[in-house]
Amino acid sequence: MTSALGLSRVSKTYGKGASEVHALREVDLVVEPGELVAVMGPSGSGKSTLLTIAGSLEEPSSGEVTVGGMALSGLSRNERAMLRRRHIGYVFQDFNLLAGLTAAENVSLPLELDGTSLKTSRAAALAALERLGLADRADHFPDELSGGERQRVAIARAVVGERHLLLADEPSGALDSVNGEAVMRMVRATCQGDVAGVVVTHDAQLASWADRVVFLRDGRVVDQTAEPDGPESLLEADPAR
Ligand code: ADP
Repeated sequence: MTSALGLSRVSKTYGKGASEVHALREVDLVVEPGELVAVMGPSGSGKSTLLTIAGSLEEPSSGEVTVGGMALSGLSRNERAMLRRRHIGYVFQDFNLLAGLTAAENVSLPLELDGTSLKTSRAAALAALERLGLADRADHFPDELSGGERQRVAIARAVVGERHLLLADEPSGALDSVNGEAVMRMVRATCQGDVAGVVVTHDAQLASWADRVVFLRDGRVVDQTAEPDGPESLLEADPAR
């Protein structure tokens, strides 16, 4: 099986000399299609860096990243941009919905930007919104939606079309626990078949929706677990918390 995402000895260093920061150190991670992996760790441990490198938004200082079996280092800038547009969906904490566009228009935008016809884009957007239980909100503007609904629109936008990798940075960070749980359930339901996901969260309860939890500290993977005890056991072992 071709993995959805592979990181092989990935390191990322910011700055030089005295101000050098090792954000990631020789991180190995493989995410299979259908799998949802949660990334946890203290603030500054490299979680966001891991996500931006996995999403080809930033390049590693060393090591190799593959998406859908393709090595990013072997792709041209244009090919990487196409991969980002077509295969990878991003969900960020602040949702980033455009206020002047309806829910359906927000979701169809990535397809339209990629040259898909208006009609086909809208049909795909409606299908994605429907999967997330938002069919009746398609023509609402973001300020007419609740926080939980806005987040679901952001997830619909991230998975519209043929995306295979969903990357989410604290997707429930701005929501209360009920809505946070609902968003995580959506992410979980989305990551099946040929769609894989990596979600950064500081919330052990939410991380327990994942198949596996990867725990980072000082840019290193310190533990990976699919234990029935769940991520709680890891947090207890972390003196920084
Ligand atoms: P986390 O998401 O776990 O809080 P980050 O990946 O944001 O951690 O950051 C890891 C380390 O890299 C931190 O020490 C942070 O200050 C540093 N860092 C992140 N991005 C940059 C950047 N663009 N320039 C310099 N240092 C950075």
